[in-house]
Amino acid sequence: MMIDSSTVVHDVRCRFCLREDHVVTICPYRYYVPKGEKVGPGGKLVCICCQKEGGHPGEEWVGKAVGNYCRICSSTYDHRTEDCPVKKGREIVGGKFQSAMVDS
Ligand SMILES: [Zn+2]
Ligand SMILES: [Zn+2]
Ligand SMILES: [Zn+2]
Repeated sequence: MMIDSSTVVHDVRCRFCLREDHVVTICPYRYYVPKGEKVGPGGKLVCICCQKEGGHPGEEWVGKAVGNYCRICSSTYDHRTEDCPVKKGREIVGGKFQSAMVDS
């Protein structure tokens, strides 16, 4: 019995296709996403020719994945600027109105 003991477990999944055998920077989804496949949380599906997000429903088109980039915290392959947890935190803080000043 020969058992390959190279079973080092990385819990780093590709953020495009969610497979565990590569990192997102070398993911084949960067160049081609098979029809019907979804792109993981690290990016979005766009048309390979015109970069249109979501492609062209009802037409023949080829998709690829582009990574999300956050302009607030500069993280890549994670979330979009509008989904930034930092921004959401700010919005909650900024949304508190001080209405206790009643001058009568
Ligand atoms: Zn991948
Ligand atoms: Zn297109
Ligand atoms: Zn962010």
